[in-house]
Amino acid sequence: MVVDDPGGSSRVIEFLGVTKQYPDGTVAVDSLDLKVDAGKVTVFVGPSGCGKTTSLRMINRMIDATAGTIQVDGKDITSTDPAELRRGIGYVIQNAGLFPHRTIVDNIATVPMLLGWSKAKARDRATELMETVGLDASMARRYPAQLSGGQQQRVGVARALAADPPILLMDEPFSAVDPVVRESLQDELLRLQSELGKTIVFVTHDIDEAIKLGDKVAVFRVGGKLAQYDEPGTLLARPADRFVDGFVGRDRGYRGLGFTSAEVPLGELRTVELGAAAAEGWRLVVDSEQRPNGWLPGGLAAEAANVVPGGSLHDTSSGTLRSALDAALSSPSGQGVAVDGEGRVAGAISADDVLQALERQRAATSVDAAG
Ligand code: ADP
Ligand code: MG
Repeated sequence: MVVDDPGGSSRVIEFLGVTKQYPDGTVAVDSLDLKVDAGKVTVFVGPSGCGKTTSLRMINRMIDATAGTIQVDGKDITSTDPAELRRGIGYVIQNAGLFPHRTIVDNIATVPMLLGWSKAKARDRATELMETVGLDASMARRYPAQLSGGQQQRVGVARALAADPPILLMDEPFSAVDPVVRESLQDELLRLQSELGKTIVFVTHDIDEAIKLGDKVAVFRVGGKLAQYDEPGTLLARPADRFVDGFVGRDRGYRGLGFTSAEVPLGELRTVELGAAAAEGWRLVVDSEQRPNGWLPGGLAAEAANVVPGGSLHDTSSGTLRSALDAALSSPSGQGVAVDGEGRVAGAISADDVLQALERQRAATSVDAAG
């Protein structure tokens, strides 16, 4: 989702020929040129030791570059006092980095208190943020150790947002939680971002996380070199070289369909409501509002006991070629079910039609590329 920036709250970050060489000679980041778009999520991804954390921490000057310039909204960050710079930059790390002897509400209120807000105002803000990140207010008085890993991570995000900074830096914030919790934290972050429109730089070693969260993804290779910087769909469709191809991993053709909007013709669907008599061939069971409710095999009466669970649904208002193909492949009848934005049946999808739509798009793209 594109969020406009009427209050000037989001910021462009630009790396210009940035190098970091540590005193022992290690070149952690090598001549990095990269522009982080304002109000978007940019993900830095790559194997361990490729310079992601170093690149991130140079933005808030926890690490200083040895060569090159970093600009925020066109202004060299070394011309701003580091403390002032950091007031506009939230920072979230793995394991949340919470203060163990402070309550949750006081952890979240840390930065407002440092900024001189009254205790009451800072706590009000902290309580409001707990709700924003999906934490129950009853946790306010607890200590970090009394929360699960996923809950602690939410506190970390709330704390980083407390002073409403336009920029958020996140270093592997979800890497230490289990996969199910991680998915829900990712979904929450996307929901939050659609409301907040921050400039977010998110570091991960997990390419699936990068592809899910990033408006743009920067793939680094060891030695601190940028291998590719593109939108996720482009990364999947056209990896720049063998390293990126290998890093992006298996099934990238299929996963790439998730970034291609679907213009798939919809066929006729035979629908039936419970209570109807038996008939030949598969029929889609619908409720009185035309919402799908499973499939009825041919020759059986339309009774609840005869209904077979349906496959995935393709939403014509937001679906992709991936959701269209999956709807067709997962349907017990072989006909995928397309629904409109309200969940009402819109028509049938065949896998053949999806593949033909893909072929048409491929042809159109290669004509573009040639012209
Ligand atoms: P990543 O976050 O991608 O795992 P880092 O930015 O932490 O990578 O590290 C990049 C490289 O710099 C690695 O080779 C790492 O060992 C090295 N490095 C990181 N911090 C220091 C340091 N303080 N002194 C020397 N080398 C360092
Ligand atoms: Mg790191």
